[in-house]
Amino acid sequence: MISSQGQKTDSIIPAPEEFFLNTNLYREFILPDDDSTLEGLKNFRGTVDAFCPGCEDRSVFKRHFPSGVGTPRPPNINARTATREHAPKTDSHFIIELVCTRNENHKMWFCFMVRNSKISKIGQFPSLADLTRHSIEKYRKTLGDEHYTELARAVGLNAHGIGIGSFVYLRRIFERLIEQAHREACQDAKWDELDFAQKPMSEKIKQLSAFLPKTLVENANMYLILSKGIHELSENECGKHFEIIKEGIELILDEMIEKAEREKKTKRITNEVARITGKLRKE
Ligand SMILES: [Zn+2]
Repeated sequence: MISSQGQKTDSIIPAPEEFFLNTNLYREFILPDDDSTLEGLKNFRGTVDAFCPGCEDRSVFKRHFPSGVGTPRPPNINARTATREHAPKTDSHFIIELVCTRNENHKMWFCFMVRNSKISKIGQFPSLADLTRHSIEKYRKTLGDEHYTELARAVGLNAHGIGIGSFVYLRRIFERLIEQAHREACQDAKWDELDFAQKPMSEKIKQLSAFLPKTLVENANMYLILSKGIHELSENECGKHFEIIKEGIELILDEMIEKAEREKKTKRITNEVARITGKLRKE
């Protein structure tokens, strides 16, 4: 469905925890006629497992009452013309306050707006970028400072509803991984650079498969999605696909980290075995 602002509106409302922690601002969702979804969110009493910037660690957050504030206004259409199927929700906004169970001074706020029978998250503290940045910190060493900053920018832009811009940064990271493999591959004396340069990305990935993480080779279409996002998709569509592409890149980086750790461990064990064997032989 296209809203009056020309933005695509989603019809599946995220579960509360997903809405708080993984949904970017201003994304609109159609509220069902049944009030239970909206009431469930307003009266959320579950717990949320999230990174707490105050503790600088993961923690469990619980709802803090009373914190809901709202500004109910009369429905904006003539009541006589309203049918049960299209009964409008009252325009309003409300705030959910969550408190860290380790330290009650560590709080989170999420502000929601209900307008024209749609709901969107219009504000939050800490920012989505701050809540998710810790999860990408472990990739700093693998990516290097420059590309780590790009990943952090992608997360930050997406958190503010800038979907296409966030795709630009993710694509640069993807291209950097390909370029790294390319540099390794062209050490081979038989390497044909002219032939490689003329190939489309999908073919380049196939040719470099021996030098690339398996996850990247098996999910080479991520590059197609990123390119299509930059050239053809709307902000909202890029925002919808952002999380899965980011997770795909994280999976590729996880594989690289595991490989580096395995190599380091193998080297250490090989050296130690050689050292102990040498020592035993002398005895
Ligand atoms: Zn805390």
